[in-house]
Amino acid sequence: MTTIPLKTWEEMSQEPGSIIIGPTSFIVKSINKNDEWVGITEWHKDREGTLCGGWVPFDVPGIDEFYRKNAWQVVSLDPLHIEPSLLCSCGNHGFIRNGKWEPC
Ligand SMILES: [Zn+2]
Repeated sequence: MTTIPLKTWEEMSQEPGSIIIGPTSFIVKSINKNDEWVGITEWHKDREGTLCGGWVPFDVPGIDEFYRKNAWQVVSLDPLHIEPSLLCSCGNHGFIRNGKWEPC
């Protein structure tokens, strides 16, 4: 059996496409087939320092209807500002405003 090592926050945050928005947070853009920005994957460290994250769909015309009812409102794409706050099952909680992670 082969074990695939999980990447660390430090490794993942340095990959192409990763946008660091705070000391323990970075995002990766989700683009649809029409090259429209429709969401992000938001990555952070959990309480043990392990990489943790989740997908955050945007309430924009290009998003699949399936995701739209639970999508985040986009106040601004540049700098990124979405509402409401993001709360992860690991307890990580904060806002993305002015392109930065603001912990709650
Ligand atoms: Zn988490």
